[in-house]
Amino acid sequence: MANQKMNGKQKRLRRKRYVYSFGGGQADGEASLNWLLGGKGANLAEMAGLGLPVPPGMTLTTEVCSHYYTYGHTYPPELSQQVRTGLRRIEKIIGRRFGSATNPLLLSIRSGGRVSMPGMMDTVLNLGLNDKAVQGLIKQSGNPRFAYDCYRRFVQMYGDVVLGLKPESKADHDPFEQIIEKKKAAKGIELDTQLTAEDLHDLVTAFKNLIQERLGLPFPDDPHDQLWGAIGAVFGSWNNARAVTYRKIENIPAEWGTAVTIQTMVFGNLGESCATGVAFTRDLSTGEKELNGDFLINAQGEDVVAGTRNPQQITLSASRQRAQREGLSEEERKERYPSLEEQLPDCFEQLQAVAHTLESHYDDAQDIEFTAENGQLWMLQTRTAKRTAAAAVQIAVDMVYEGRIDEDSAILRVAPAQLDQLLHPILDPDAPKDPIARGLPASPGAVSGEVVFSAEDAEAAATAGRQVILVRIETSPEDINGMHAAEGILTVRGGASSHAALVSRGMGKCAVVGCEALEIDYAQQVFRVRGQDDVIRFGDFITLDGSTGEVFRGEVPTSASKIESPAFKALMTWADRTRRLRVRANADSPHDAQVARAFGAEGIGLCRTEHMFFEGDRIDAVREMILADDTAGRVRALEKIVPMQRSDFVGILRIMAGLPVTIRLFDPPLHEFLPQTDQDLEDLAKKLNVSVERLRTKRNVLYELNPMLGHRGCRLGITFPEIYEAQVQAIMEAACELSREGVEVQPEIMVPLVGHKRELEILRERIARVCAEVISAQGATPQYTIGTMIEVPRAALRADHIAEVADFFSFGTNDLTQMTLGLSRDDSGRFLPEYVAQGIFPQDPFATLDQDGVGQLIELAVKKGRAIREGLKIGICGEHGGDPASIEFFHGIGLDYVSCSPYRVPIARLAAAHAVLKEQAAQKAQQAQKVKAQRPSRKKSTSTPSVAPGP
Ligand code: PEP
Ligand code: MG
Repeated sequence: MANQKMNGKQKRLRRKRYVYSFGGGQADGEASLNWLLGGKGANLAEMAGLGLPVPPGMTLTTEVCSHYYTYGHTYPPELSQQVRTGLRRIEKIIGRRFGSATNPLLLSIRSGGRVSMPGMMDTVLNLGLNDKAVQGLIKQSGNPRFAYDCYRRFVQMYGDVVLGLKPESKADHDPFEQIIEKKKAAKGIELDTQLTAEDLHDLVTAFKNLIQERLGLPFPDDPHDQLWGAIGAVFGSWNNARAVTYRKIENIPAEWGTAVTIQTMVFGNLGESCATGVAFTRDLSTGEKELNGDFLINAQGEDVVAGTRNPQQITLSASRQRAQREGLSEEERKERYPSLEEQLPDCFEQLQAVAHTLESHYDDAQDIEFTAENGQLWMLQTRTAKRTAAAAVQIAVDMVYEGRIDEDSAILRVAPAQLDQLLHPILDPDAPKDPIARGLPASPGAVSGEVVFSAEDAEAAATAGRQVILVRIETSPEDINGMHAAEGILTVRGGASSHAALVSRGMGKCAVVGCEALEIDYAQQVFRVRGQDDVIRFGDFITLDGSTGEVFRGEVPTSASKIESPAFKALMTWADRTRRLRVRANADSPHDAQVARAFGAEGIGLCRTEHMFFEGDRIDAVREMILADDTAGRVRALEKIVPMQRSDFVGILRIMAGLPVTIRLFDPPLHEFLPQTDQDLEDLAKKLNVSVERLRTKRNVLYELNPMLGHRGCRLGITFPEIYEAQVQAIMEAACELSREGVEVQPEIMVPLVGHKRELEILRERIARVCAEVISAQGATPQYTIGTMIEVPRAALRADHIAEVADFFSFGTNDLTQMTLGLSRDDSGRFLPEYVAQGIFPQDPFATLDQDGVGQLIELAVKKGRAIREGLKIGICGEHGGDPASIEFFHGIGLDYVSCSPYRVPIARLAAAHAVLKEQAAQKAQQAQKVKAQRPSRKKSTSTPSVAPGP
């Protein structure tokens, strides 16, 4: 007997819980169980536990979903008993019976994953109705029309979601809607609201007939059959096409599964003292601490979000603001859209109190769904509210000032990439948009402008005061003036580190590149989008979103950046106090250096000296140098170049006084600087006073099949010593001039594209010699260092040898990615999106570092370099320096700094702080794990009978 009892107890203990009840002031679950109960179920439990008015219900766990898919769409054996018990509990709390003909309990059945997947899965409302229960509902509500409306909605929804009577193709009509339309036509009415109780009753019969006809089965009248049908449909909807696609986009693992929440129906559509709405505890655009949101009187839950009726505002002040915008008088406003505060003041008060409780409890802004049934407020959902970047910053900082969270939590509440929105204008999220194509989001921001197809036209239009977008197959340095003049840049070719992308980011200009679907016809001055009929002509307006890569037809309104806010400054101060990585900027002109400092850059990590020639006629001097026949010709050209560079170096070093400035010696991919068209050749021949033919021959001689692996970087410096020598002279003259003025300068002279120690050895010796000559001639003693980029895989592998002759390393991850993956940074846009879509690359490797491949090389180089030179200063200046995920990696492997475009400096500062906080959290978790792992061993040792061994 005792044994039997033991077994029974053990069995009960072993019985797994698949159903968690909530309501009536208590709950089995809580918010932290969202992996098991889904976001909705977990937060309903939490609210019920807080004593908030939550319609009683129960949640079937995500483990049921796993079982359902693992075992051929079946349920765990314990489930049906647990659901029955849950139902009885609901009935007891609410005082109604499921299927009762006098006082029926109606249920809603909803899905709820760990993270919100809005609208992707299925829902069934008003479940539990049949011909008997509807009579009970009439009695309860005293409103036959309402009761039959619920009944026809239920049969329609169940028929669609559970029984699968959906339109068969896009061309098909919804069979239920067709019946409704027929009814309305027969009665000569237009609106659903004009249907009487009797009409609705007829519709229920017609719907059921349709189901019988199509499926050969009667509509299930038994509420329990209905319930299990709906549960199956909701679990089934985890794998419908919409949900699968959404999960793919949002990176949600399929194994997570959905929970199913079964909850008592409450009705916002029972009359004028009923309402349904969505409220936010703070303003989610600005972050202001003010309850706001929308509601509808006499409506069901979905009506507010469905947009079929124009909702009213919750607060009086928001209602008045709307009236002001729409030019309505106070009387008109009160008549057309009074606030909840005025219309249902008791509910408004209850809502305010609930909002306060929820914010205090979660310590974050909440997005709340509610229903008022005859003046009683019910909470249907709460979740962390999605917000704009400006609101994210404001709310996080305010919560610190309110004493709710600490500074570290505030830092972690703002995603670094979100800051892009603050630094550049963004598209108005509510404005209508007509997307026509999508490329790579190369440089953030949002701009509209007239289409132009050449740099000259861009300049001319800008001079005339027009806003233009420069649309090119690709850009080259000769387009630079046009890029400068344009508001935005759109190219067909190129990747995230292509010329167009680099230059635009440096300029802080919005750009979409690699938009392969565009077919540009320069001759006709038009472009088409592959697969579309329309043509966009010169002068037509388009809009670019450089943060998503989208291209829209026409002008889409934008809103301005909010970087000046005191909250932003406070957050960045906290981030700066937290981070270990220094953040520098890639800047090539005094203007960019100024912008970089304003964004908080702590020096320049990359000054691309060839970019200094993008402005005005400077490019001609570079071309003259490249095309020169001999050393004498090059020296003549360099004599023009040196003074220009010297004055720029003076400007940059002065702005960055007291901070390091890494100046990279010439690394022009020659093909980008060579004249392309016959017209270019003719123009340049005139300027250089040589024949077109001579120039053409020279260009052909210099032509390289594989220019990115050609005569560039230090290879130019090795073969034409005068080029680097002239540049070093300009750098040191600038440094000496400022030193004499008492300005602290820290030039770091950097050699690009080194693969062999010997390359750097030769160049270092020459650089040091020129430096010594200038210093002795000028009588000043500025400090300087000589280092190298690590951007050729061989350099990473031989970093220990190279470190012997380098004062510092800076990883050029653009070239390092290009060469390690054997992937052209300029041409891969053609297939890269497909590679990402098919999961071959998790992301664009030119935007987010390939940590497993390129990352390994970097880690190895850091170790090898520092093994030879302890404390070797190491940074990164490729485009990955501004990418939050890559920054976390760079922090983890101990780099000293990252360098990125000026407009990404704040993102990098915040990301570097995130890296520290995440590392600390991981260390704490590891520590806790260790302590936990040690516990059982202690237990074991105490239970070991070492003192009194058995017989
Ligand atoms: C790099 O290769 O990462 C780099 C910074 O140099 P560039 O982009 O100028 O080739
Ligand atoms: Mg490079």
